[in-house]
Amino acid sequence: MGMLSKVDILKEIEEDCRSADLPLKEISTNLVFGKGNPNAEIMFVGEAAGHNEDLQGLPFVGIAGKNLDKLLDKVGLNMENVYITNILKYRPPENRNPLPEEIKAHTPWLIEQIKQIKPKIICSLGNYATKFFLSNGDVENMEKMPGITQVHGKIKTLDFHGLKIKLIPLFHPAAIIYKRELIDLWEKDMEIVKKETRQKTLG
Ligand code: URA
Repeated sequence: MGMLSKVDILKEIEEDCRSADLPLKEISTNLVFGKGNPNAEIMFVGEAAGHNEDLQGLPFVGIAGKNLDKLLDKVGLNMENVYITNILKYRPPENRNPLPEEIKAHTPWLIEQIKQIKPKIICSLGNYATKFFLSNGDVENMEKMPGITQVHGKIKTLDFHGLKIKLIPLFHPAAIIYKRELIDLWEKDMEIVKKETRQKTLG
């Protein structure tokens, strides 16, 4: 048992998640569990799959994903040194906002992913992921949390399920597509992420 790698354990968790009876499963094409390197020290958490993600079974492969890849590349990050997932593991119809019951049902899988990966840094992408972590996973309290406009780029140290994690909230890469002026802010925030990851590799 002790011989199983993080990669193997995550694959098992993914298979368990696939057989779980989750809301939205019936109307989805594929489970969208996660991608990237499970041994990464930095994790990105988005909101939910869109059309392309649902078709391919992978997070951030549509326009938002292209944008995210470009932004990561600027600071020297790629799928070799990050792990990417979402709050919801299935696509909401017409990309509507996640419902509290869906977040409650799906996030135990996110928590399992975090417990295995043990990231030093979590970048939450947009309001839902940010509020989930700021409320320490208490879905009932999410709406009372400050929004991304107030907290983007502000590092917050979390004690999340016994793990010490630096949360760095970022604007959602899809929001940036429609508001070009946010690109500068995103890039400034990513400099903070870059500095934190560099500290990790040196320390
Ligand atoms: N937006 C998200 O939040 N997640 C995806 O996987 C794709 C788009």
